[in-house]
Amino acid sequence: MTTPPTPSPTPVPHMTPDQFREVGRRVVDWIADYMDRVKGLPVRAGVEPGQVASMLPGHAPAKGEGWDTILADLERVVLPGITHWQSPRFFGYFPCNTTGPAILADMVSSALNAQGMMWSTSPAVTEIETRVLDWLADILGLPDKFRSDAQTTRDGRTLRGGGVIQGTASESSLVCLLAARARAARALPGLSIDAMTVYTSTQAHSSIAKDARVAGIAERNLRLVPTRADFSMDPDALARMMREDTERGLTPVFVCATVGTTSSGAIDPVRAIGTICRERGAWLHVDAAYAGAASVCPEFRPVLNDGLDLADSYVFNPHKWLLTTFDCSTLWVESREAIIDALSITPEYLRNAASDAGSVIDYRDWQIPLGRRFRSLKLWFVLRHYGVEGLRSYIREHVRLGELLEGLVDADDRFERPADRCLSLVTFRLKGADARSKALMERVNATREAFLSHTVLPDPETSESRYTIRMAIGAVGVGEEDIRRTWAIIAREAGNV
Ligand code: PLP
Repeated sequence: MTTPPTPSPTPVPHMTPDQFREVGRRVVDWIADYMDRVKGLPVRAGVEPGQVASMLPGHAPAKGEGWDTILADLERVVLPGITHWQSPRFFGYFPCNTTGPAILADMVSSALNAQGMMWSTSPAVTEIETRVLDWLADILGLPDKFRSDAQTTRDGRTLRGGGVIQGTASESSLVCLLAARARAARALPGLSIDAMTVYTSTQAHSSIAKDARVAGIAERNLRLVPTRADFSMDPDALARMMREDTERGLTPVFVCATVGTTSSGAIDPVRAIGTICRERGAWLHVDAAYAGAASVCPEFRPVLNDGLDLADSYVFNPHKWLLTTFDCSTLWVESREAIIDALSITPEYLRNAASDAGSVIDYRDWQIPLGRRFRSLKLWFVLRHYGVEGLRSYIREHVRLGELLEGLVDADDRFERPADRCLSLVTFRLKGADARSKALMERVNATREAFLSHTVLPDPETSESRYTIRMAIGAVGVGEEDIRRTWAIIAREAGNV
């Protein structure tokens, strides 16, 4: 590349360590104040489309600005356009936890900014991740085969397990689908991708359909398996669909079971599904994005973990309901080779002695991007700050609040609950026309005192989609008072629709 002669540059206005200390203290103070005042802020953002952008100049500043001006814009520009996911009365979607230990770890991670793409590029990034995911597998009571030191034998092959942190459950599931696709292609040379079929329930998260699309699975080969009355996958229907596909010359390669569906928290019968997958040689992936966090409590494991010994992979998101700042999606596989076979490409410029010797984990081969942040630091800090007992108390308290809410809904005969409560997720609607439930939710959210979200659930008798309000309890600071106050608003507004 030829460029004109470079003029002598003016000094670059880097922030000095002392300036960082001074401004950093102000930012930490701002964060601590935010943690304190978030309970009093309107939960939902109150801006119109374009309003935030209109407060920003059309061009970046030519000269650097002062920190008083920059920090003032947190209040003026940013906060009005924020929906406060950390509000104790945020009940929409699923929770998205953040906590002091995780924020501090993210600060350190940002400061080090080490690329953990390979062991050799920063051994601590890899080794802490591997160890912390082994800890977490134990804390959740996952099968030993998912541990990094596990070796299992299947079909005469030795498989080595292990865990890895991905950005999101969508990516985790995609990685597994790609591994399943590669495994099937290797097992059946000549198998075309057009002949591969993928299965998940009609209630599975949309990320699975998106992953299938990204993986090149034809839309006609994605099977949405019907569900039973409790919205869990019907294993008989799965077995029938897989049999019919096989008879038509297609090859079932991947099944995703959900433990805790997004709409209602339904739990697919993983053991029955796993048995079918083993018969057909299909990869079983378990998506427990939200509910998996509750496996820290032994009492929930008989339901949440049943059948995981038959799964090839398992994902849950500590960034949802386990106190760890976004992004942190933890994925375990029985066969790291399957993932590496699907994703590893080694150009000369990434070669190094440790990788060549095969003695280390290179997480770049377990994910889609090359680069990766030091995400395990926040999980490590969280686990060390709270300890296993702290995690259990946290989950149990939210499940108790879920029971409280369930009781409040049931005590008001204007409402019905279309699905059983799943841990801290409660679904409900007004009896009668859907329009009333929709209006109710909009009125509650318009108060900005609480935030709810909605879904549709099929009526088991008519199969008609019914508007359903979801309340997912899981904000870090939520307490009984927040549930009672929110229910009082819901009960009041129900009288106005
Ligand atoms: N799976 C389930 C069951 C979910 O509920 C969600 C999101 O709520 C996802 C997957 C997608 O999660 P992510 O945003 O981590 O991709």
